[in-house]
Amino acid sequence: MSFPNRHPEATTAHRDLRAGEFWRRVPAYADVDEATFLDHRWQMRQTVTKPKDLYATVQDLVSPEFIADVEDGFRRSPMSVRVSPYMLALIDWENPAADPIRTQFIPLGSRLLPDHPLLTLDSLGEQRDAPVPGLTHRYPDKALFLTLDTCPVYCRFCTRSYAVGVDTDEVEKVNLKVDRERWTKAFEYIAATPYLEDIVVSGGDAYQLKASQITEIGEGLLRIPHIRRIRFATKGPAVMPMKLLTDTEWVDALTRVVDQGRRQSTEVVLHTHFNHPNEITEITRAALDVLFQRGILVRNQAVLQRRVNDDLDTWRLFVRRLGHIHVHPYYVYVHDLVRGVEDLRTTVATALELEKGIRGATAGFNSPVFVVDAPGGGGKRDVHSFEYYDAETGVSVYRSPNVDPTKLYFYGDPIDLLPPSGRERWRDPAEHPRILEDAASRARSVLGSRG
Ligand SMILES: *Cc1c(COP(=O)(O)O)cnc(C)c1O
Ligand code: SF4
Repeated sequence: MSFPNRHPEATTAHRDLRAGEFWRRVPAYADVDEATFLDHRWQMRQTVTKPKDLYATVQDLVSPEFIADVEDGFRRSPMSVRVSPYMLALIDWENPAADPIRTQFIPLGSRLLPDHPLLTLDSLGEQRDAPVPGLTHRYPDKALFLTLDTCPVYCRFCTRSYAVGVDTDEVEKVNLKVDRERWTKAFEYIAATPYLEDIVVSGGDAYQLKASQITEIGEGLLRIPHIRRIRFATKGPAVMPMKLLTDTEWVDALTRVVDQGRRQSTEVVLHTHFNHPNEITEITRAALDVLFQRGILVRNQAVLQRRVNDDLDTWRLFVRRLGHIHVHPYYVYVHDLVRGVEDLRTTVATALELEKGIRGATAGFNSPVFVVDAPGGGGKRDVHSFEYYDAETGVSVYRSPNVDPTKLYFYGDPIDLLPPSGRERWRDPAEHPRILEDAASRARSVLGSRG
């Protein structure tokens, strides 16, 4: 029996995952066998943090001009650079300038743009909302626990660049090392705050916690009766999935916390951070299968980035591929205002258009919500919920009634993507307060007319 094809546009490309020993194309990894490449300790030891290490790794795959551009990028970057061999091996070295993984981790001097005038260093006000250093308690029932300040990789776009990574010339960081005393204070605060139910254990990155520390933090939180939900946040599965296959001690420690949680009806899940379908390989599928088979739910929070994941074809493939490996796409963040990465930001209009094109492409629960983390401490807002959005100046205005019912929060599209008249208005610093006042008064009049 044959049926007419109702969906000639349907593809199964999301299931075509990269397999085999793809890393051997990189000169430094040509002799690396599978057992070595899958060893998380080897991946950690071989992370690249300097242009000369990068050059030693990729050698004649790249031109001297490209390396000079990278050196310039490293020099002017406010963020530490750190890339895993797994990520490096996935970059298309025939055309690294256009590669979405290269773009996220390795800065090119030639691409850098001036920062947006709305930017301040801790643009999300996390430190202001911290009752204990490293514990951000902005919303009544949930808090963000920054346990340590390192990550398996350093992402150029990181919001936490105030804390994460070693000092660079550009930014002086806040100190958030592993510190028993600081952790104890955080536990005491959480235990003393009965309306807190939900703790995000982040960093840095939970991959960097030792197995014994996963146990200590997990058990510490599980002992607090009013905590109902715990999320361990780690980019690890995206940038170093092999740890889930070879660091049995770590995975077992996490599993024990999840199992203990299940026995006492406390939800313990993993939140991760994939940004592009190319990051998902057969290694990822095998790694995520381990978590799935142990009943560990994984959700994804991605960051929308220009030239990385700002087109619909990429997103349709990406959400289906995440679904295929049982990772739920939860949020897509419109890129925060972060120093030195203006080239990665894109517009609110782009986010609106992508969301429209994704919804309906796969299961509703695998269709992410696009959010703006409103500068000034407004927190995450559904990107569609602006009160006013000015196409000329790129300013969008949000309210956040659970944070402050009276305040307006402003987000600004990158200036180089504005129409010429909008770019002209931002050129004059004296005009900046007026741009925001105009947007605020338009927002207020829209609100007023709604009654
Ligand atoms: C994102 C965030 C949370 C968690 O928010 P959800 O919307 O529930 O994922 C909690 N606290 C802070 C400060 C945050 O930034
Ligand atoms: S892994 Fe997460 S916390 Fe670490 S640099 Fe990347 S985005 Fe920032």
